[in-house]
Amino acid sequence: MFRIALSAALLFVFITSSSQITPNTGSNKQGSLPRPKLVIGIVVDQMRWDYLYRYYDRYAEDGGFKTLLKQGFACENTLIPYTPTVTACGHTCIYTGSVPAIHGITGNDWWNYDLNELEYCTADNSVKTIGSTTEAGKMSPKNLMVTTIGDEIRLATNFRSKVIGIALKDRGAILPAGHSANGAYWYDDKTGDWISSSYYETDLPAWVKDLNAKKLTDTYFAQDWNTLYPLDTYTQSTPDDEPFEFKPFGTTANFPYKLSAFIGKYGLLPVTPYGNTITLEVAKAAIQGEKLGADDFTDLLAVSLSTPDYVGHTFGPNSVEAEDIFLRLDRDLGDFLRFLDKQVGKGEYLVFLSADHGVDQVPAFLRQHQIPAGSVNASTMEEQLNAQLKDKFKSDKLVIGIMNYQVYLDRNKLNEARLSRDAVLKEAISILQKQPGISRAIVLENLSETTLNAEIKNALANGDYPSRSGDIQLIFQPQWIEGFESRGTTHGVWNPYDAHIPLVWYGWNISPGKTNRQTFMTDIAPTIASMLHVQMPSGSIGHPITETIK
Ligand SMILES: [Zn+2]
Repeated sequence: MFRIALSAALLFVFITSSSQITPNTGSNKQGSLPRPKLVIGIVVDQMRWDYLYRYYDRYAEDGGFKTLLKQGFACENTLIPYTPTVTACGHTCIYTGSVPAIHGITGNDWWNYDLNELEYCTADNSVKTIGSTTEAGKMSPKNLMVTTIGDEIRLATNFRSKVIGIALKDRGAILPAGHSANGAYWYDDKTGDWISSSYYETDLPAWVKDLNAKKLTDTYFAQDWNTLYPLDTYTQSTPDDEPFEFKPFGTTANFPYKLSAFIGKYGLLPVTPYGNTITLEVAKAAIQGEKLGADDFTDLLAVSLSTPDYVGHTFGPNSVEAEDIFLRLDRDLGDFLRFLDKQVGKGEYLVFLSADHGVDQVPAFLRQHQIPAGSVNASTMEEQLNAQLKDKFKSDKLVIGIMNYQVYLDRNKLNEARLSRDAVLKEAISILQKQPGISRAIVLENLSETTLNAEIKNALANGDYPSRSGDIQLIFQPQWIEGFESRGTTHGVWNPYDAHIPLVWYGWNISPGKTNRQTFMTDIAPTIASMLHVQMPSGSIGHPITETIK
């Protein structure tokens, strides 16, 4: 009933507002359809919603987060409506308004049943790397089954709008940019250069070549990494050197990190604050080099900041490293907003900031504080499961893999051995249900018949794309992760620590404020579509968040 009333109100707003404007001439001149010059999506890879407030008192008055919160519109209760809550799915969902069950990006990797091999979400052997001699550019959005908001903006302006994606991670650049993008650029961690794929172009544009020639990673590493403020002020975080941190820079995990000793080790950049800094420098260079926001056709720049994810996995969300990353990101974002004011013009651009997923605490840290937690090592579980199934069915390796919290059976082997799939599934489930950390194990196709809570059931159904999904869905106990027993942490499940993300709107046509109404990651693309008066992406199931609009 409420939804009908809301739709009617929305329709009224659309009718009244459209009667005040003349038909679209593709121009922002007086009397024509108002649109922003540039839409900038900022996706922070692994940012839980509470990070907006956890470090609030430490964020700068002219930094990014306080500017966005004070002058923008915050959707405080934005959730991810599917599993697995991982990078590829999150970036795709944000820019398509869709879910894995429809857009087909069911994980960072999945099992390809036709080729009988593991498939990476953006891998494409039919294309070449542009900008280096490595394999890191053999990527495209070919596995994405729907359009993105960038595709729709391009279609709406007869391809006169430009769309660019930028991230350290290839999937963080490619999936947001969509099929018809003008370009996507990511970081080659072997060469330290920003690269692309022949899917988009035959040569790097001059602005990318110029940026690569600066060797910014070397310059940043020469500055080392010390905390932004004195170490003893990091009272929101656990002591600097904890036994449950990984040690990517040597034998200890404490400040200061002498990055100057690692110049040339380009693979380490993402786990330093300079990963964010360089990404925003590339974003600025793209805006200038591609003249984004310079003409009357709305452009879209999709920026993803991958570093918080690397740092969160490595040191944990309660570490000094994580706090320092967010304090520095705050400064970098403030600098980026000032650049946009100068380059595109204050009020001329629309920004949203969100995240692809959150993260669980480090299980070992939680246990120190009597909070139940643990980890499930998927490869050990796979070995044990295969051994027990072999005892019963006299056939080896019936399980082909455990990924995205799903168990994949080897369908060819079941056929060859003339085994009943139902019998193997039944046995596997009875084994899995007894494993520590596993709350439920269910046959995915029987999801609707289970007594699972409706929210979880909905999230699992939204993640199921049968030709790429597994056979058995695992539901972990809360606070349990798939990973190593002693160090680090991860994300991927339905629980709020992974699924409650920030969503803040800022700039063109946004009135300051906030809502605690439940909104979803799938609402972001339809909101942009509604504000720009363009068609929603083809798999969108979200709803425009009308409160944000002036
Ligand atoms: Zn991650």
